[in-house]
Amino acid sequence: MRRRTFIKNATLTGLGITTFGLLDSNGKAFFGNNLKVNGQRIETRINELAKFGRDEAGHGYRVAYTKGDIEGRAWFMQLMKDAGLNPIVDHGGNIIGKRKGKKPSLKPIAFGSHIDMVPDGGNYDGTLGSLSALEVIEVLNENRMVTEHPLEVIIFANEEGGLIGSRAMVGQLTDDGLKQISQSGLVMADGIKAIGGNPDDLKNSIRKKGDIHSFLELHIEQGGILENENFQIGVVEGIVGILDCEITIEGFANHAGTTPMKLRKDALLAASKLIIEVNEVINSVPGNQVGTVGKIQVQPGAYNVVPGKVALGLEIRDLSWDKIEMLFSEIEKRAATISTDTKTTITFMREASFSKPALTNKSLQQKINESANSLGLKTKFMQSGAGHDSQQMATIAPVGMIFVPSVGGISHSHKEFTKTEDMTNGANVLLQTILSVDRE
Ligand SMILES: [Zn+2]
Repeated sequence: MRRRTFIKNATLTGLGITTFGLLDSNGKAFFGNNLKVNGQRIETRINELAKFGRDEAGHGYRVAYTKGDIEGRAWFMQLMKDAGLNPIVDHGGNIIGKRKGKKPSLKPIAFGSHIDMVPDGGNYDGTLGSLSALEVIEVLNENRMVTEHPLEVIIFANEEGGLIGSRAMVGQLTDDGLKQISQSGLVMADGIKAIGGNPDDLKNSIRKKGDIHSFLELHIEQGGILENENFQIGVVEGIVGILDCEITIEGFANHAGTTPMKLRKDALLAASKLIIEVNEVINSVPGNQVGTVGKIQVQPGAYNVVPGKVALGLEIRDLSWDKIEMLFSEIEKRAATISTDTKTTITFMREASFSKPALTNKSLQQKINESANSLGLKTKFMQSGAGHDSQQMATIAPVGMIFVPSVGGISHSHKEFTKTEDMTNGANVLLQTILSVDRE
């Protein structure tokens, strides 16, 4: 055990830092390097939060804007109050708690996640990052440690319904978005009102580029890579971009008994060839890109009719938009050949709802990696295949994301689980990364 001595307002001129810091037994300053989160407290609180909105099956139900979400948020805000964070709800419905730093002129280091869930979702998606953000504050309070920068804990509203709160925060929630029906059944604008926001005046809550020093989010991986490859921490390099495209193949519907094989314009046959080509194109270059045909509709859809028309849903995801475009145009090229061979026409209609990749900040990636390594944890640099509030925050601030393993890679299910040890590791990495960012 290391012995500690408090030093009051010592000026560590060598580092250019004035601090209310700590000395270890060798007289060396450490700015909270040995602070540790209370993993048991995180787990207990995850289980408490899981009780809100319980259904007959005993599963929590905190879909945004529902009773469970509203009650869960009230519970969370009380914990924030108890921790001295004086939480407020911004106009987008996001909960924001602030802790003063020694230098009020510095921009705040922000961190957090979300506590809403998908229907029948699990207890760790979003909640781990939210409760760990609060845990960082608790540990700093208990150790009477004040950071240089102000700190902000942000709990985003309705992440699962399309990153609604974080979109509102960065000025990307449109009037059309406000009119959409949310999973709760409420129109988005009414949902935002139900949790204390003000959809008529979103402008007043917008955070601009430069308003926030950095944003950090701890999240469960929601996939099986870390567990499979035996890593404890994922350093997220970015959140993948998504291109969705509806492909329509038109042939000619005709009698399946009387139309000879060589005279057919079979749209489903063309679609089948194209699905295989999509898979081959995606696999034809190295990398982590994924491509899926996840939807197929056949018309008229009868045993005795040659298929006349097929609609396919194609999706491509990668961290590089250029790569997505390159793969997409190769698919188009191969489709042209199939079209000629099968005497069908193939048209591509890109969906308007594409999302560009959001890269995390390189320096924050390094800080996360170093913090994890200093704790003896094995890290893997990886991409996030799922969307997160961090991708919205990346438009206004440098962003860093920390992943911890999901058991069995299961998520968006009540079977979702992350071990206490992994949650504790992730929260400790979050804490140390915040302190590391604060030191620069
Ligand atoms: Zn999430």
